[in-house]
Amino acid sequence: MGKRVTILGSTGSIGESTLSLIDHAGSDQYKIVCLTAHTNAEKLAKQALKFRPEYVVLADPMNAETLREALHGSGIEIGIGREALIQAGAWDADFIMAAIIGAAGLEPTLAAVAQGKHIGLANKECLVCAGDLFMDAVKQSGTTLLPVDSEHNAIFQVLNPERRHEVRKLILTASGGPFRTFSHSELQNVTREQALSHPVWEMGAKITIDSSTLMNKGLELIEASYLFDRASDDIDIIIHPQSIVHSMVEYVDGSVLAQMGSPDMRTPIAYAMAWPERMEAPVKPLDLVEISKLEFSAPDPKRFPALRLAREALTHGGAAPTVLNAANEIAVDAFLHEKLSFLGISACVDKVLNSFISEQSFAKPLALLDDIIEYDQSARRRAQQMVSGIG
Ligand code: NDP
Repeated sequence: MGKRVTILGSTGSIGESTLSLIDHAGSDQYKIVCLTAHTNAEKLAKQALKFRPEYVVLADPMNAETLREALHGSGIEIGIGREALIQAGAWDADFIMAAIIGAAGLEPTLAAVAQGKHIGLANKECLVCAGDLFMDAVKQSGTTLLPVDSEHNAIFQVLNPERRHEVRKLILTASGGPFRTFSHSELQNVTREQALSHPVWEMGAKITIDSSTLMNKGLELIEASYLFDRASDDIDIIIHPQSIVHSMVEYVDGSVLAQMGSPDMRTPIAYAMAWPERMEAPVKPLDLVEISKLEFSAPDPKRFPALRLAREALTHGGAAPTVLNAANEIAVDAFLHEKLSFLGISACVDKVLNSFISEQSFAKPLALLDDIIEYDQSARRRAQQMVSGIG
């Protein structure tokens, strides 16, 4: 029998790509044992009837009946609600794909970490909001953490962690999103639909908006800092619209090692799933002659303040990244519901983060999950108030 696989967030963009690779590889290589979703009971049931897991979980009870009816008589165990979601993380598996969106993924992913197996980490927010606690749990349990974010996966592929003294810098690339060339006044009128159409990557709604504000790169900066144990100053960010060079490591002798590939998330997902081997993925081969031109430029912190805010939060440390992440989740949701303008997203995060900083509210150490949840909830409440104020 193949590797036992759980997918936390199987109905999302990363979840579906993971399932498509498993379908491609065949059930003798990978056996799906557990799948989870938030509200999409119909898609979850369809996946369950195809891949026959042992356990499926719907985190939001609202559509529980739809799931129960669809899986009636299938013999598949059903869990509903938050506790069941955490149980899904702890479900016996060799490989767990952590692909829930947002801080909601933290507790189930920590439950997965406690198993001490292999985790494909797509859910960057759980590392942003609880970096130290999360990495401590990884070390204690002996978990092998395999980054799925394409940039971190690229660095993972070209970095030798045992020779960290030879590394000068990590260089994260960013596509720049759909508004890379927009002026400040053009950014004022950006619509939800414009922000949801990314020029290169097909992703879920939240990360697509994060890519358009460059907050995604900010979150990735913090993610890279925790994953590779590097300070903010050791991590550069450059704009690379073609998204062919997924990231780079600069060594002390001037060598720069890059990982390249077509912009297709199935490559980093396949790498994480098969590690330390490689598996075949049905990805368009990279044709550099056809692409012919690779461009690089510096990001503009004036038009895209999210990057600056993320650096500020990372440098501040403690609960600052937790607050940044929570405020951003609320602001993006408000933008998606047309309650906040595009520029309002970063303005809201800025106000919330700096209100905490000016009150010196970060004094409390973040050794406990409860502390993190408290900061997360408090930042969410403050962001909701800001949203009503900024509009
Ligand atoms: P999607 O929005 O497409 O999917 C999110 C998944 O999480 C869905 O299964 C969703 O269920 C579930 N979910 C949402 N909210 C909750 C909740 N409160 N509790 C439990 N489950 C929940 O996201 P993506 O696949 O785009 O992204 C997943 C993660 O991967 C994110 O952290 C993102 O930053 C990261 N990532 C994604 C990339 C991409 O290409 N998409 C690239 C690199 C990183 P339901 O369908 O029922 O709503």
